[in-house]
Amino acid sequence: MAAVGSMVFCTDCGNLLPSTKGTEKNILQCECCGQWNKDTGSKTIVTKSKPSDFPSALRQKLHSSVQTVERHNIQTETSVFERCPSCGREEVKYTTVQLRGADEGSTVIYSCECGNSWNENN
Ligand SMILES: [Zn+2]
Ligand SMILES: [Zn+2]
Repeated sequence: MAAVGSMVFCTDCGNLLPSTKGTEKNILQCECCGQWNKDTGSKTIVTKSKPSDFPSALRQKLHSSVQTVERHNIQTETSVFERCPSCGREEVKYTTVQLRGADEGSTVIYSCECGNSWNENN
């Protein structure tokens, strides 16, 4: 690496580059040969801040998995026009359960507001 602490040296000629002036792209130009160099001095500071970013990244991952569960719950609330054999109601809720074997298809589980539930192979 061409960086020692916060000092950055030209990768082309080894000249010590001027300290960070806060350029948008973090690029420093060598005063000696004109070579453009990445400001690895400020890059080191960014790397140091990474461990503190990790917990929020983990939290975001957990949050997205929670959203997936919520989406699944909404799917179980789907209504379907199916006659309940218990009370005769013609609109019931259903959920689809995928069995382990791919060739076995999925099982539809119906549930009625009367408390009756039954399943049917698709
Ligand atoms: Zn140079
Ligand atoms: Zn019913």
